[in-house]
Amino acid sequence: MTGGSSPIGYLKAWHTNLYLSADAEKVREALSEGIAAATMFMSEKQIEVSETQLRVAFDGDAVLFSDESERIFKAHGLDKFFEHERENENRLLDHGPLKGFLEVLGKLQKKFYAKGHRLDCPIRTYLVTARSAASSGIRALKTLRAWGLEMDEALFLAGAPKGPMLEKIRPHIYFDDQMFHVEGAAEMGAIAAHVPYGIAQKFPHIKSVNAGK
Ligand SMILES: [Mg+2]
Repeated sequence: MTGGSSPIGYLKAWHTNLYLSADAEKVREALSEGIAAATMFMSEKQIEVSETQLRVAFDGDAVLFSDESERIFKAHGLDKFFEHERENENRLLDHGPLKGFLEVLGKLQKKFYAKGHRLDCPIRTYLVTARSAASSGIRALKTLRAWGLEMDEALFLAGAPKGPMLEKIRPHIYFDDQMFHVEGAAEMGAIAAHVPYGIAQKFPHIKSVNAGK
């Protein structure tokens, strides 16, 4: 409780790993300070989530990764996007606003693994991306591997809607930079949070998901 003034300065001092708020303005401020942050929404319907395992799902572009590739897609379309990803397959993607949070989860997971809880680890992570497994997904996987970050599951939807997949995963939270994915997840009753970062905030009407990248 900060008497109406912004708490963001304190968050930095406390090395906050994740800031969630219903106030999109404060979330944007936190992101601009390099803090992983997302806006929460109340949805009418809510699916039941596991009580023994924390499940966290992430979009790739402009969430774990920078919006570099998303910019190519928005400016030049799907073909150029594929070409760009093929040409840059061996160049790592830059980090996005939630990479640090995934890193922290990974460190916690390793502590459980050390105690022999590999299969029933109480934390499970998911990548849910519109990239496809065959082509554009390779760069995403190579980047995660190079960072030393392992996802428990990587789902390449190749443009299919994310809602039905999230309904199956039942994450405690799903992060995406595009509002229509957040809304699609919420319609299925999945808990989704919006990361207001990157080029998608300028062109929310261009739906890259339908293009099947
Ligand atoms: Mg994205």
